[in-house]
Amino acid sequence: MIMKLLNQTSLIILFITLLSCDNRKRSSDSQSVGASSERQAWALVIHGGAGSMSRDKISPELDAQYRKALSEALETGKKILSDGGSALDAVENTIRVMEDNPLFNAGKGAVFTHEGKNELDAAIMDGSNLAAGSVACVTDIKNPVSASRRVMTNSPHVMLTGAGASQFAREEGLEIVPPSYFYTERRFNELKELIKKEKNGTVGCCALDKSGNLAAGTSTGGMVNKKYNRVGDAPIIGAGTYANNSTCAVSATGHGEFFIRWTVAHDISALMEYKGLSLKEASELVVNTKLVKAGGSGGVICVDKSGNISMPFNSSGMLRGFAGADGKSGIFIYKDEN
Ligand code: ASP
Repeated sequence: MIMKLLNQTSLIILFITLLSCDNRKRSSDSQSVGASSERQAWALVIHGGAGSMSRDKISPELDAQYRKALSEALETGKKILSDGGSALDAVENTIRVMEDNPLFNAGKGAVFTHEGKNELDAAIMDGSNLAAGSVACVTDIKNPVSASRRVMTNSPHVMLTGAGASQFAREEGLEIVPPSYFYTERRFNELKELIKKEKNGTVGCCALDKSGNLAAGTSTGGMVNKKYNRVGDAPIIGAGTYANNSTCAVSATGHGEFFIRWTVAHDISALMEYKGLSLKEASELVVNTKLVKAGGSGGVICVDKSGNISMPFNSSGMLRGFAGADGKSGIFIYKDEN
């Protein structure tokens, strides 16, 4: 009888050990920083898109350019947050830096639609009051993220699209550019040759400021070769962008249709709010389990109300970086970096 009990006990212990090994293995597939409830003063995380990015596909020159561009963006947000600026200002200005850089698929450098146009989407969300603004299918607003912030603060609406969004931006005094501003030869060739390798360069930023407020923003040209007036997940609150002071701020990148259908950004927040999961657990569950099962490739960057950061992705790479008041920071491209 005693022997039987002992055998059962050892079987249970073996089972638990195997389970925890499996968990350890899964969590090493993605990246997170910090795991505490003690709040750090500020934290910032950015992405420059996810996709098939392996060392053999990215030249050393392009690798260096990406890292430099990410570091410039990160420095912008870091300065704002460490000087006591707001999470919203950090998110907007960090994203503007990436929108102005032709390396990324957002603002200047946006990919082309099937019709050979550039149609841009962007959103921003304030975690302190769940205010949000977004623009979609815009063709002449230089910095769509700023237009989305104006929609949030200066209009009674959450989302404006196309010509109406442009008119609103004009009335707000934002910089309007001719659609040809967004033309870059690299992106046009991409369309011409119909290289539909899933390689994206959407940009996003999430921040926690010294007052404890969270904000998230995302800006993109969408998917290369997309059809007329297609709207992706980036400007859809709860899909590609979400922030809530009681949980986290999230910005996504990847195959937008899946992120919309699986309401990815809000799902991460909901898992934290209703199931008590940590940021790391919630974001990994959604990106590495739910999305993988669905066939949706991409990733998210997120920060919680304590300043913990998580950056899981299920593609081979994601341009990403983070910084915090604790002095820790990093910039990464490939899966094997952390
Ligand atoms: N999520 C974006 C979209 O579907 C694309 C991307 O992240 O690259 O529009």
